[in-house]
Amino acid sequence: MSWEAVIGLEIHVQLRTSRKLFCGDLVVFGAEPNRHVCPVCLGLPGALPAVNPEAVRLALRAALALGCTVHPESVWARKNYFYPDLPKGYQITQFDRPLATGGALVFDAASGGEGQVRLRRIHMEEDAGKLLHDRIPGATAVDLNRAGTPLVEIVTEPDLRDPADARAFLGALKRTLEYVEVSDCNMEEGSLRVDANVSVRRAGEDRLGTKTEIKNVNSFSGIERALRMEVARQVGVLEDGGQVVQETLVWDDHRSELRAMRSKEESHDYRYFPDPDLPVLRVSPRTLDEARAALPELPRARRARIQEVFGLSAYDADVLTQARATADYFEAVAGALGDGALAARWVSGPLQALMNRRGEAADALPLRPPTLAALVRLVEEGTVSDAAAKKLLPELAETGETDVRAVVEARGLVQVRDEGRLEAWIDGVLDAHGEEVRRYREGEGRLLGYFVGQVMKASGGAADPRRVRELLLQRLAER
Ligand code: ADP
Ligand code: MG
Repeated sequence: MSWEAVIGLEIHVQLRTSRKLFCGDLVVFGAEPNRHVCPVCLGLPGALPAVNPEAVRLALRAALALGCTVHPESVWARKNYFYPDLPKGYQITQFDRPLATGGALVFDAASGGEGQVRLRRIHMEEDAGKLLHDRIPGATAVDLNRAGTPLVEIVTEPDLRDPADARAFLGALKRTLEYVEVSDCNMEEGSLRVDANVSVRRAGEDRLGTKTEIKNVNSFSGIERALRMEVARQVGVLEDGGQVVQETLVWDDHRSELRAMRSKEESHDYRYFPDPDLPVLRVSPRTLDEARAALPELPRARRARIQEVFGLSAYDADVLTQARATADYFEAVAGALGDGALAARWVSGPLQALMNRRGEAADALPLRPPTLAALVRLVEEGTVSDAAAKKLLPELAETGETDVRAVVEARGLVQVRDEGRLEAWIDGVLDAHGEEVRRYREGEGRLLGYFVGQVMKASGGAADPRRVRELLLQRLAER
């Protein structure tokens, strides 16, 4: 009899604010330890928290983008536990009255078609600090720069059935959160962290099995691998007549292995209660309407529209809408050229390669859409060769130069199509290669490419290769 996996995810997302959730300290990744702290995030007696409205605005955007119901009132709660990275002795979060509930996200299922995951809740909370085990020999240091960083936690229903879909869902979630500019979702820097809950049951069974929770995974591929391994383990336990024990497991990415967390580490009684220092969080209908009106087009809608409007393949539309900035860039170039297919070819090909090399998103690239469009037009009208234009891209990105024609002329890249000059180069090459000309006449047709190459070389790359080929064919037939 076959088994079915059941997976639910808890995702922590760092909001893209410049300041912390309850104080004015800056949120800076990689700063010198304990540079961005104050009495509030250090938990000094008498310090009072005040909510950062920017964080609330971003959390609202996340909730609305995911179709959640936002509650007009939600409540800040204290989650009490002792750990050295938590100076107050409690984390301010939301518990029984979260910011938003419900909602769902549709994604491209790993096996094709659409998948959907319902969301249980989205609530706001503050992050803890970080323990550093490698700074001081034989001791652990604590860095509280991160303490108080604004997060949302997104909790899904146990709707996923396949580790590959857990990964696909996370990709779609990340894309959505990036589109609405809620978070940069950078897993390496910890701005997106995922805990995966998983159980198995016999196919056709309605009841949920006992779950385990996997923590400490730091990549989407790691999530998929850890889940596969855990599903196989649980199936093995059950098939041997054993029982799955509810526990928390820690993923070791280097060894690709799951270890049980010591049970003491997870046996918490958090003694949640409403935080007496903070008023109820109110979201007025007007704030909600404004947040809704400010939402941009979401990734799937944009992908469908771009595919339809510009007549692209599903694949191209998907590539071009991976990042919102790339989609913006593409639409600007396509609009300027009046040709979606042509714009798609340049943006998803050479421009994407350039962005990868420079490690820059499309909106940070000094080479702006009108400049790329101008260059593509020069290629289309035959003024500059395709190859020369591609070689020019890094330079244009480096200098931010916008007068493309001037650059092309200054570099001597204007293609020569003047018959007299082309013929002079061709004659020179054919005179110098009598032996090859003889072999060509005897049937070695592939030497044509060699002659074209030689003429291009003689012209310093300036000759129009299409015209050179035509003239060569004529001339070789005459001689
Ligand atoms: P807990 O009380 O242990 O935190 P919750 O009910 O809060 O569990 O659920 C936490 C996450 O685990 C949610 O994403 C939920 O969808 C998922 N989950 C709950 N029960 C199961 C189960 N039996 N199998 C797989 N996932 C589950
Ligand atoms: Mg839970």
